[in-house]
Amino acid sequence: MDQDFKRRLIMAMADAIIAHAEELTALDSAIGDGDHGLNMKRGFEAVLADADNITAKPLPDALKAIGMTLVMKVGGASGPLYGTLAMGLGKALPPEPSVADAAAALDRAIADVKARGKSEAGQKTMLDVLIPVQVAFAAGGEDLATRLPAVAAEAADATVPMKAIRGRASFLGERSIGHMDPGARSSSLLVQAICSVFN
Ligand code: ADP
Ligand code: MG
Ligand code: MG
Repeated sequence: MDQDFKRRLIMAMADAIIAHAEELTALDSAIGDGDHGLNMKRGFEAVLADADNITAKPLPDALKAIGMTLVMKVGGASGPLYGTLAMGLGKALPPEPSVADAAAALDRAIADVKARGKSEAGQKTMLDVLIPVQVAFAAGGEDLATRLPAVAAEAADATVPMKAIRGRASFLGERSIGHMDPGARSSSLLVQAICSVFN
């Protein structure tokens, strides 16, 4: 994967998170502590600031560098989890992945996130977007880059009626029902951003 393509991926992800920081924070204000947008924005601004260094690396090392930056800069619960996801992808992906390689790597990286978060599908977290996206990705077919953003958006919407079992929102119990999970929304934004570069 060439340096310019890696830069476009980083810019697309950072732009999406920065443009939606207030929305993410509003979602987190409803069922958390209101910092998810700020946390993610800080992390992706740090990734952007390091983009020259990151994009000069082969894809696996670039992903590991992104993961370490997210762990250090995002903070909260989501920083270590998104960091684990990016580092997991870096560990599992070859430098020039096929679609099948990417789907398999995402499966491995999601397993790392589950282990780190002691979490699984149905608990109203980022996993409720990442898992259905991985399933659709692994199923393959035509126009993946067009279809996966819709899968992600629907999966984020589907967190609204869920009761949170993990993260701060779980402290609210039943009162977490009726709001979209902020991490599900940020995952959906990242999927949309990545797919936009492949379209
Ligand atoms: P914090 O809750 O520490 O303030 P953030 O607001 O940045 O951290 O991130 C909250 C998001 O992190 C939640 O919306 C949820 O998607 C995700 N999350 C929290 N805990 C877990 C977990 N154990 N497993 C998976 N995702 C989690
Ligand atoms: Mg928060
Ligand atoms: Mg917090």
